[in-house]
Amino acid sequence: MKERRLAFFIPHKGCKQSCIFCNQRAISGKINEVCPNEVFDKCNLFLPEPGNEKGMEIAFFGGSFTAIDKGYMTQLLEAANHFIIQRRASGIRISTRPDSIDEDILETLKKYSVKAIELGAQSSDDSILLANERGHDHLSTTKASNLIRDFEFSLGLQMMVGMYGDKDPKMTAIKTAEDFAFLRPQTMRIYPTLVLKGTKLEDLFNSGKYVPLSVKEAIDCTVEALSVFDKADIETIRIGLHSEMSLHKSFLAGPYHPAFGEKVNSRIIRNKVMNLLENERIKTVKVAVGKGMKSAAIGQKRENIVFFNSLGIRLIIEEDEKLGKREVKILNTIDKEN
Ligand code: SF4
Repeated sequence: MKERRLAFFIPHKGCKQSCIFCNQRAISGKINEVCPNEVFDKCNLFLPEPGNEKGMEIAFFGGSFTAIDKGYMTQLLEAANHFIIQRRASGIRISTRPDSIDEDILETLKKYSVKAIELGAQSSDDSILLANERGHDHLSTTKASNLIRDFEFSLGLQMMVGMYGDKDPKMTAIKTAEDFAFLRPQTMRIYPTLVLKGTKLEDLFNSGKYVPLSVKEAIDCTVEALSVFDKADIETIRIGLHSEMSLHKSFLAGPYHPAFGEKVNSRIIRNKVMNLLENERIKTVKVAVGKGMKSAAIGQKRENIVFFNSLGIRLIIEEDEKLGKREVKILNTIDKEN
């Protein structure tokens, strides 16, 4: 069942420091503190009628949910849990920092119907985590992930590509993806690093010490990471940041594209078709892709069709609901001499 979500953003709340790339207020577009009454009122207004909770989540994103004042955190959870008890939502999802997880916190989260915990892990390279002033290392991510799984929460990890201090972004993306896959998360999110106004990264960018990835480089890195997660059967639930007005206002530089995720999927499908073609004499190839993936297979501005045309190949695409999201199957081919 497709998940629906009522999300509340808790910008910078609980963060001991500011990571050099982060301007949560820009990402969430929210400056004021969310209060428990607001959670209650919005849940009451927007959640479905009792008994229709399946696939509906209440989410607390941004900041470091489990590092905020415990009384405030409990009030927010209590407000949300009221609607889980009423069967108007099936669970609560939160995002937090890897170093803000311990047994006490997890017991509290369990009590209030939290089902999924996402960790802003970002990289498994300690030198990159340090350069970005994350304030935690990969060991924190490993310990928190193990504890979250032991408590039987759904574990989600967030990773970034092209961070400051990354000397070989493609190799780092592969290594981080492998290290994260080893932690067996249920879900992943992958974000390219953007330069936002009002961050330390802006200063590093202006002084020439940080050069962001191009859109093409960010796609290359993300394709590598995503392929690792696909192979490990880990679901990637988000690729690239949402196109919010607040993000547009704060965006300064970097590989932002409103259809970043679709471009990544297009590239993966193109690579798979190329790998599956058995010889160079093919004139037409008909392929099947997963349900809902035809437009990604065609590509933005028909880029995959144009790419194969440039090789003298006509690409025909159809969807097959039996295939996985980025799976590709060759249905038939016609050689040039036929
Ligand atoms: S921990 Fe997350 S919310 Fe807090 S400053 Fe870092 S990236 Fe931003």
